[in-house]
Amino acid sequence: MSTIPGITLNNGVVIPQLGFGVWQVPDQEASAAVRTAIETGYRSIDTAAIYENETGTGLGIKQAGVPREELFLTTKLWNSGTRDWSGPAGREAVLREFDASLAKLGTDYLDLYLIHWPRPMHGSYANVWSALEELLASGRTKAIGVSNFGQAELTHLLETSSVVPALNQVELHPYFPQNELRAFHAEHGIATEAWSPLGQGGDLLSEPALAKIAAKHGRTVAQVVLRWHLQNGGIAIPKSVTPSRIRENLEVTGFELDAADLAEIASVATGKRIGPDPTTFDWN
Ligand code: NAD
Repeated sequence: MSTIPGITLNNGVVIPQLGFGVWQVPDQEASAAVRTAIETGYRSIDTAAIYENETGTGLGIKQAGVPREELFLTTKLWNSGTRDWSGPAGREAVLREFDASLAKLGTDYLDLYLIHWPRPMHGSYANVWSALEELLASGRTKAIGVSNFGQAELTHLLETSSVVPALNQVELHPYFPQNELRAFHAEHGIATEAWSPLGQGGDLLSEPALAKIAAKHGRTVAQVVLRWHLQNGGIAIPKSVTPSRIRENLEVTGFELDAADLAEIASVATGKRIGPDPTTFDWN
């Protein structure tokens, strides 16, 4: 079993650099996938209220039989557009959503709770953040962070609140490496967590430049890409429901990308996102 290194977040909590993501895994399949992942050696699981698989995820954790304190569990607050997240009512809504997630997951605490999207057009994420600060103070989550925040929203939080987000989970892969945002995070003690770290398994995994590097190291392209995330000092949460790939994605230690490999990987960047632009994204 490979040993995944950890990253110490700005409040001292340690997160594994590699976790298991469960977006698009149906609730009834999530327990088997999560159980397989934990049995394979993953110790960090990333879900979200909107994935509608928190129940299956919690079940998989129970079935795997690993003590809860050995796991790092993340879920995310869905900022439903039908709800007013401002003022005291917004705060109450956040606390209710948190309780609902915990109940589905079958746990009494989280390791990390994230605001899923900033939805800056509504101007309420700072109020939501203050509710997360309360949850952190209560000990019901060991760390709080954000997802899909840009420099503008992070700057606003840094200026107006007392807790610096432990991390920002954003779209990040060799096509869209987020160099500027990563530098901003580093400057402010915010860890970078990559979603769609494998580019959702699309064209990225058949990039000739990456295939060459994979052949050189006797690894797969997915392993090279995940290794790149780790060597960048980031956190990656690849998703798969296929046991062989779940294992493959964990086995990314024991080799090192050199400067030439890293330069080659940098050359495939297109600057194009797969997912939506977080400054305008406003799903309900
Ligand atoms: P990913 O980059 O992890 O790609 C997953 C897909 O790649 C799989 O469905 C499979 O088709 C393929 N794949 C996986 N391993 C492979 C391998 N070894 N070889 C070949 N193909 C392989 O994409 P993702 O699921 O979008 O992102 C990972 C996780 O990030 C999600 O499950 C979720 O937890 C999180 N996420 C968060 C947000 C957010 O807004 N915060 C958005 C998207 C995803």
